[in-house]
Amino acid sequence: MEVKVTRVSEPGTRPKDEDLGFGTVFTDHMFVMDYEKDKGWVNARIEPFGDFSMSPASMVLHYGQAVFEGLKAYKTEDGKIQLYRARDNFARMNRSSQGLCIPEIDIDFVMDALKKLLKIEEAWIPETPGTSLYIRPTIVATDPFLGVRASYTYKFFIILSPVGSYYAQGLQPVKIWVCEDHVRAVRGGVGEFKTPGNYAASLLAGEKAKKEGYNQVLWLDGIELKYIEEVGAMNIFFLINDELITPMLNGSILPGITRFSVIELAKKWGIKVSERRISIDEVIAAADNGTLQEMFGSGTAAVVSPVGELRYKDRVIHIGDGTPGETCMKFYNAVTDIQYGKAEDTQGWIE
Ligand code: PMP
Repeated sequence: MEVKVTRVSEPGTRPKDEDLGFGTVFTDHMFVMDYEKDKGWVNARIEPFGDFSMSPASMVLHYGQAVFEGLKAYKTEDGKIQLYRARDNFARMNRSSQGLCIPEIDIDFVMDALKKLLKIEEAWIPETPGTSLYIRPTIVATDPFLGVRASYTYKFFIILSPVGSYYAQGLQPVKIWVCEDHVRAVRGGVGEFKTPGNYAASLLAGEKAKKEGYNQVLWLDGIELKYIEEVGAMNIFFLINDELITPMLNGSILPGITRFSVIELAKKWGIKVSERRISIDEVIAAADNGTLQEMFGSGTAAVVSPVGELRYKDRVIHIGDGTPGETCMKFYNAVTDIQYGKAEDTQGWIE
């Protein structure tokens, strides 16, 4: 399928790197294609970024049949554009689509389309260390129909947003609140898929955590409220007694790309890594007996996010000395060095 390109007549200007936040500024163009029953994905095009016209009866607006992804492109010091594990994001998108009865996309085709779009938008990729171009591929159900079933038509689009450094002030440990009133997802549900409803379902608990003075929620499992699942919209790692532990993928945890990178590097470096169930009681016990060395989240936005304080019921646990742990920093430096082309891509992550 050809990708038809329609360019803007007046290119916009990228804000100064130091003025960039997250997700508010969009580039001049977007990639779009449509899915039609019996035809498959058609009408691939790069066109000026702009509003879509859609029926208010569009199925996605009523029943949330949609999937999305979040990944980044980085500019190296010598001006090269680097995509980090982008194929893994599109593979995850296809798994999410399977879970939401959405037709899959051809990963090679979409990778080529994304590269073409990035070439057109090269001037929008910020260059200051820590900044990047955030990439948001999305698929939404577009049948104008109020019955509950899988849609026959869809729209796939990729929009791009230059984003500032997550750690403009350096890595700072965050405060986490263990949520017992709400769960993010349940096994057998859609927690392992990247679908909007999971994020809508997380809002109320997030607001409660903020009211209590905490940055994020630590999610427990939806059956026993006992085992740790994720933190905010990140995966979670614990370093206990020199063992790096992360909850195993059980159906209600999003399989984070950064999570896979941390596990891969840890194994390479000879750190003992376990993907297993870990209960909140185990973490509290480790804090009590002095073996809880580090705790951090992992995700595309931050790479890693050290946790400095954990509140569970009336217990408040402090982890570390107010600065990021050594292991967490080692992962941060190794991943970002590869993303920004400062280190050799020993893992085959860059395209
Ligand atoms: N869990 C959730 C719920 C998320 O939204 C994300 C961000 N995509 C992650 C974990 C981390 O995934 P990744 O490392 O692929 O960004």
